[in-house]
Amino acid sequence: MYGKVIIDIASSLVDKVFDYKLITDIAVGSRVLVPFGNQTKEGYLVEKSDKVSYDPSKIKQIIKPLEDFAVITTDQFKLAEFLKTKYNIGMCDSIRLFLPSEMRTGRVKDLMSVVAFIKDENKAKEYLSGLRKNATKLVAVLNYLLNVGSDTTANINNKFGNGALKKLIDDGIVSTFTKPILRTPLTQVNGIKNNVVLTTSQQNVVDCISNSVGNYLIHGVTGSGKTEVYMALMQRTIDSGKTGIMLVPEISLTPQVLANFRSRFGQEVALMHSGLSAGERFDEWKRILLGKAKIVVGARSAIFSPLKNLGLIVIDEQHDGSYTSDSHPRYNTIEVAIKRAEICGCSLVLGSATPDLETYHNAITGKFKLLEMKDRINKKPLPPLTIVDMCEEVRHGNTGIFSGVLVSELDKVIKSGNQAMIFINRRGFSSFLMCRECGFVAKCQNCDTALVYHKYDNALKCHFCSSRYKVFSECPECGSKNLKLGSTGTEQVVEELCKMYPNVKILRMDNDTTSQKNGHYKILSQFKSGEAQILVGTQMIAKGHDFPAVTLVGIIDADQSLYQSSYTAAERTFQLITQVAGRAGRADKQGCIILQTNVPRHYVYKLASGYDYLSFYKKEANLREVTNFPPFTKILRLLFTSEVEELAKDATKVYYDEVKKMQQSEEYNGEFIYLGASKSPVGKIKNKFRYQILIRLRLNKDQEIISKIYSLTEVNKLKNVSVFVEINPQSLS
Ligand code: ADP
Ligand code: ZN
Ligand code: ZN
Repeated sequence: MYGKVIIDIASSLVDKVFDYKLITDIAVGSRVLVPFGNQTKEGYLVEKSDKVSYDPSKIKQIIKPLEDFAVITTDQFKLAEFLKTKYNIGMCDSIRLFLPSEMRTGRVKDLMSVVAFIKDENKAKEYLSGLRKNATKLVAVLNYLLNVGSDTTANINNKFGNGALKKLIDDGIVSTFTKPILRTPLTQVNGIKNNVVLTTSQQNVVDCISNSVGNYLIHGVTGSGKTEVYMALMQRTIDSGKTGIMLVPEISLTPQVLANFRSRFGQEVALMHSGLSAGERFDEWKRILLGKAKIVVGARSAIFSPLKNLGLIVIDEQHDGSYTSDSHPRYNTIEVAIKRAEICGCSLVLGSATPDLETYHNAITGKFKLLEMKDRINKKPLPPLTIVDMCEEVRHGNTGIFSGVLVSELDKVIKSGNQAMIFINRRGFSSFLMCRECGFVAKCQNCDTALVYHKYDNALKCHFCSSRYKVFSECPECGSKNLKLGSTGTEQVVEELCKMYPNVKILRMDNDTTSQKNGHYKILSQFKSGEAQILVGTQMIAKGHDFPAVTLVGIIDADQSLYQSSYTAAERTFQLITQVAGRAGRADKQGCIILQTNVPRHYVYKLASGYDYLSFYKKEANLREVTNFPPFTKILRLLFTSEVEELAKDATKVYYDEVKKMQQSEEYNGEFIYLGASKSPVGKIKNKFRYQILIRLRLNKDQEIISKIYSLTEVNKLKNVSVFVEINPQSLS
């Protein structure tokens, strides 16, 4: 018997299967140790066969399996193949997505604990009665064990000191065995099961989806009760003996969803995201693989969970940008989910109050079944949204961060004991620190970007590479003390609020305050418990959270997202406003939204304030169609990065010429709407120079052209230059 093995080395040179002899029977999908060159390497057994294509005497033997179970399922292999072609990655990179990374090279193992127990109760009692009176420790341990039956040696030694237990073991009264203990994330999260009766609209959606397997889009306004729909669908899936995946866009949202799901499905729910410790991730992954957990709640990487017999995939807030991975390997979770659902023959359910343009387009053109939930639970109206013209404020002498209306609404919230959320999509104190005299702005040495001023830890930080620099109080160039701060960030908002309401507890939630383990959970539960009255935060606070006492949402600087240089800027802004606004007035209390802007008449704000998704969709889709932007075309970015600027530049030139040839060929003439090469808008990140080629294609031969471009990147192997191909990138930085 022979085995085909993929070697776990991320190099395109070994990106193929190697033949090995199989002496013992090892399951397909196992990790194995094999001789490779003059080293031993880890690999994945992907196939068994009787035949090999060349001289069997030269074929080496698999040394051993690394675990006693297969780590990749057949379905996952199929998906890995798809990822390989779709995203032009190596099979090894593709397979790695399915495993806890620390498992490779054995950096994480089962956590074992030693358990002590009484061998023979009668003998133990006899022993006890024969003990001398002053052997108090021995008596205590024995009585304890006779009482509880068994406990870990660590616990016993903690309680009674080390000596006594050892003596009992030596005397043959107590025996031990080892067993793995599970590292379970967020054990403290346990919701209370609410026995809600589904509304007619919820029930309709559940029935419709349960009736036939397919891809669905639920377009439901914020607060329409989508979570209950997902849970009801999951219940049916579990009842029919299958398993399910529930994706949410942010780690910060997982505790809330986990609580809901645990309250209903208990320990059958596993949690998967990048914020878990290595041990937690490994244990949860194993629970899923071994069928002990049947539902996985998690962020985007949970789409790769090793569930068998998959019956349902749900992607909540499907429009969210975090579903697209922006680092290697660059995948789009929805595309992956569509494929996984197809392989497993199960349904895919996408949900959002503001579906992304492409998905909604797919839904109305029949690629997804569209289901609508138009009302909030109890027909509560969506909270009124007031647009405040900040230029007008300045004309009236208010140069502060907060408009008059926002301040008076905040006053009301504080007096009434309710809660407010203030949204500002920039962390730190201010976007930069600049000299008014000579215009000097501090920049990162590794990246081509301005440093952000963080007052809290008194440092200038780079948001691209996390480097820290000293703050200056006089300009390093000209010595002037006349310094200017850039646009407002979360810290500055908190500082101002603290001055206005010295007795009110205010929380800040952004990348800085959530970096330690369970950081999101701690802040959110503090806010939920009512301990704090105001929560200030970045987009982390915008999504999906359900805080019944929140009656006011303030959006400090909406324009920031509107003026990003991406064709999706208007769409992202509309989604963001709708999401943030959806946090207010969810329970019995009436809520209100204040949106501050310098361009109050912009159509995005007009339509967002009326919660008019459909009109927005029509307007935006129309605009994209006439200007030739996705979803009516495809944008490709080829990004070249290198530590040596010339190399990145030269590579760009080489590829540009190749693509140009394609553009001019008879075959593809007319398929290219745009082709251009340039330095990237952020010319350097983490000491790597960045150049790019931008391509815009019509949707006739796009797949063909994309695969040609992929194979170009394979043929022209460039030394010391990395090439990334992105399709419809959200950011071009
Ligand atoms: P969405 O995800 O659509 O924004 P949620 O699922 O968070 O909305 O639901 C909004 C609120 O309505 C939640 O507090 C939820 O507990 C409540 N809810 C949902 N369905 C029902 C129902 N059928 N009856 C009563 N309350 C419900
Ligand atoms: Zn200066
Ligand atoms: Zn940097």
